[in-house]
Amino acid sequence: MGAPTVTEVAKGVHFVEGDAVNWVVLADGDAVTLIDAGYPGDVDAVRQSLDLIGYRPDQIAAVLITHGHIDHIGSLPALLGGVPNHIPVYLSSTEVRHVHGEYREQATPLDVVRNVHRHGFFGWSMHVVRAGGTKHVTLPDAMPFPSGGLLGLPGRPVPVPTPGHTSGHTCYLVPDVGVIVTGDTLVTGHPTSRLEGPQLLLPLFHHDQQQTLEALDTLEALDAEILLPGHGPMYRGSLRDAAARAREQGFAGSH
Ligand SMILES: [Zn+2]
Repeated sequence: MGAPTVTEVAKGVHFVEGDAVNWVVLADGDAVTLIDAGYPGDVDAVRQSLDLIGYRPDQIAAVLITHGHIDHIGSLPALLGGVPNHIPVYLSSTEVRHVHGEYREQATPLDVVRNVHRHGFFGWSMHVVRAGGTKHVTLPDAMPFPSGGLLGLPGRPVPVPTPGHTSGHTCYLVPDVGVIVTGDTLVTGHPTSRLEGPQLLLPLFHHDQQQTLEALDTLEALDAEILLPGHGPMYRGSLRDAAARAREQGFAGSH
């Protein structure tokens, strides 16, 4: 796996672009909040990104997850297993059941094979295999958000429920700096897409397409001007414009 690209997009907000998926580090004082964590094969890249920002893995105050897909949780068993202190991993209560392995909502290898003729699929699926993306990773210790909320965490992130891509998908708003971490609800690119700019992933990647579209309504009502997606580059602009562009482009141009 290659070296990650780290960009400080607002004070203390670091956007990390791995080979095929992004994650975010919210730094404040001597601790960080990590949002999403890449594929199993990204564990060194996650460590490297923390190092570039000036932190060690044992300084992670908590890990927040947008959704339980392998490209967003894959590195966590190795990453967190390697630190002496216990680091909590939080998700929505629905998504906790997903990462506990109680059910699965992920495109299967068969779905991918059926689409291998599509633009970018072959190269992307080879990357998934190399990055450990065919493993089934569960996070038995993951917990629902604490009842007092997350404002005590570095960056003061606020969960925004956005079911659709998965049943318990959550975006994270960082109100202090107008940043929204959109996971896979709204992306700006993907190896399997020819489109640029705000867009939706292909239908096969979403558990519920209709709900994914409705989640755009939730996002566009938020006050944020920096969009950090799970896939593709950062986008600066109003969420209303980003959502409109995504609706117009459709599911990775599949219509
Ligand atoms: Zn993803």
